[in-house]
Amino acid sequence: MDVAQGFEGLVDEVQKSFGEDIVALRRDIHREPELGFDTKKTAEKILAALEGLPLEIETGVAENGIVATLKGGGEGPTIALRADMDALPIHEETGLPFASGTDGKMHACGHDGHTSMLVGAAKTLSQGPLRERLNGTVKFVFQPAEEGGGGGRVMVEEGVAEGIDQIFALHLWPGLAFGTAATKAGPIMAAADKFEMEIKGTGGHGAMPHLSADAVVIAAHVATALQTIVSREVDPVQPAVLTIGEIGAGTAFNIIPETARMGGTVRTIDDDLRHRLPERMEELAKGVARAMRADAELDYTFSYPVTRNDPESAALALKVAGSLFGEDRAVELAHPSMGGEDFAFFLQKLPGAYIWLGVGDVSGLHTPQFAFDEDILPQGAALLTAIALEALSD
Ligand SMILES: [Zn+2]
Ligand SMILES: [Zn+2]
Repeated sequence: MDVAQGFEGLVDEVQKSFGEDIVALRRDIHREPELGFDTKKTAEKILAALEGLPLEIETGVAENGIVATLKGGGEGPTIALRADMDALPIHEETGLPFASGTDGKMHACGHDGHTSMLVGAAKTLSQGPLRERLNGTVKFVFQPAEEGGGGGRVMVEEGVAEGIDQIFALHLWPGLAFGTAATKAGPIMAAADKFEMEIKGTGGHGAMPHLSADAVVIAAHVATALQTIVSREVDPVQPAVLTIGEIGAGTAFNIIPETARMGGTVRTIDDDLRHRLPERMEELAKGVARAMRADAELDYTFSYPVTRNDPESAALALKVAGSLFGEDRAVELAHPSMGGEDFAFFLQKLPGAYIWLGVGDVSGLHTPQFAFDEDILPQGAALLTAIALEALSD
């Protein structure tokens, strides 16, 4: 590896030295997707790929996570680079030769790519001349259970954030121009909370509605009324989303069901608003249900907090991306996404930045057709590498 100064030629060097390894690892992980904390085989693949590198390796972190530590040539702070490892309960429809071999599981959020890019960065930074340039320590954090399990929270509870001065993570991003890095100071991803609601009516014969309190009709009214919270009660310049993604009731066409159930998610950026919404949802649902001779019960869970970038870390990432990819491929975002991300738990403890890496106009994250051009992988590995070099350059 011949990258003496700056980042010139770094993408090409990563591509030439490790491009094939990175793609092979990504395909290997893609073929065998694992959910939540249950990422044992993925962890084994990562460990095999890291073998022979001058790393101190800790396994079994947050069940099947890994923290690999690389000491640089000089003394200095410790930074961390984090990748998520888990897949989704989606049936893959990409038709790729290395498509998921497990029905109903798929890497549809690109975490296979994140993991292989981070391994690529570990391989690159372990090379003598680059390692010498690191004044400090790099921790490569492989985290399970991003998709709802809160693996990031568990890692923080287990002390992974301790002794780290700054942390970065990448996410592949459909809809952003291919090979473009984007981030911003402050909030970049929303708080992502979830709820379940039960409408408790009175069941009965489908022909005798006057003898029941129809949970289906009441649920329909409640679902509609809940939409007025965001549209009529939240300041229009304040971002908020209330989505009911599940609704269900009944067992047969001629029975009025006693109960109906719905499940949904609430996304906010403002913390006060975040904590105010559940109470209003409950009041409104109970009010509507009681007006119709039924009751409503809300079960609300605060899941992932806002992913809030440190302004200096975000600026560092943009500066590095600009010099690595070109200024036109380093974009400062105007707005956050209302998606959620458990990297938020690290950023509650540490300064750092979450960065989107564009994969162009492809099928969206969490869709059965999600696929991306693998040329992005060495670019992402180079970006992580360059961020570490820059953060530990003094
Ligand atoms: Zn996802
Ligand atoms: Zn994801």
